[in-house]
Amino acid sequence: MSVKTLVARALGRRCPRCGERDIWTSWFNTRESCPRCGLLFAREEGYWVMAIVLNTAFVEAIFALLFVGGLITTWPDIDWQFLLAAGLLTNGILPFLFFPYSKTLWVALDLYTHRASKG
Ligand SMILES: [Zn+2]
Repeated sequence: MSVKTLVARALGRRCPRCGERDIWTSWFNTRESCPRCGLLFAREEGYWVMAIVLNTAFVEAIFALLFVGGLITTWPDIDWQFLLAAGLLTNGILPFLFFPYSKTLWVALDLYTHRASKG
C-alpha cells in the first residue's frame, strides 16, 4: 500500500488500511478495531502516545510559523496582540481539532513502518 493512500485515508479520518469511515465513537476516540477490515487500532497500552507527539509537533509548528511570521511582517512595531491571539488560538484550539487526524496518521505511519512487513 502506498504512503499516499495511507496518508490520504488518515487525513480523511478513515481507516488507513481499508478506508472505512465508521471507525469513531466520538471526536477523540476510535473503535477498538475497524469494523470492515478488523485492524486493531491501539494494539498495546500507550499506543496513542505517538499520536499525541504528532499532534503536539503539528500544533507547535503552526504556532512557530504564525509567531515568526507575525514578528517578521510587523517588525519593528510588533503586533503583540496578534501574536498573543495567535498563540492562544493555536495552542488552545488546534490540539483538539487535529487530534483525530494525528491518531489516524499515527496508525498509517505504524502500518507503513511496522505492520506491512509482518503481514
Ligand atoms: Zn479498516
